[in-house]
Amino acid sequence: MKLIILDRDGVINEDSDEYVKSHHEWRAIPGSLEAIARLNQNGYRIVVATNQSGIGRGLFDMSALNVMHAKMHRALATVGGKIDAVFFCPHTPEDQCDCRKPKPGLFQQIAKRFGVELGQTTMIGDSDRDLAAGLAAGCEVMLVRTGKGERVVLDGKVPEGVQVFDNLATAVDHLVTRGERV
Ligand SMILES: [Mg+2]
Ligand SMILES: [Zn+2]
Repeated sequence: MKLIILDRDGVINEDSDEYVKSHHEWRAIPGSLEAIARLNQNGYRIVVATNQSGIGRGLFDMSALNVMHAKMHRALATVGGKIDAVFFCPHTPEDQCDCRKPKPGLFQQIAKRFGVELGQTTMIGDSDRDLAAGLAAGCEVMLVRTGKGERVVLDGKVPEGVQVFDNLATAVDHLVTRGERV
């Protein structure tokens, strides 16, 4: 099974420094949903791993998150795309949990649930926390310049071995054409 792990905010939908707190604030990045559909068409399964400390901070609750994700799944379905599961960390940094990125806990949960080796998966994120978590988990790691990604590049915080793309669509372009060559 080919599995891709995606961050959510700044990769699939527009990020916000004030947190994405409701479905009203959830807006897809142009081209991201179509990119996910293209991965599906090429035999990839997609799982999301996302830090949602807004829950732990009391900014929104589980039901608001569920409605947001229902909107995401619905929007994806209209372009023929599908996300298999959303794994999220609801904790704040003070909780010192194992699942908040840069810790690799969410990825390990995904590996267990789907029975995959993380070394065989690709992780695409927009923040230095995503990159650190993906590298710690042993994933192939890609950074997109959307969301916080441009800042990471400008600050020179792209670790060795991380590939950089303009957005999810160009990262997917790379994955799909590479897959065709094999
Ligand atoms: Mg992000
Ligand atoms: Zn957590």
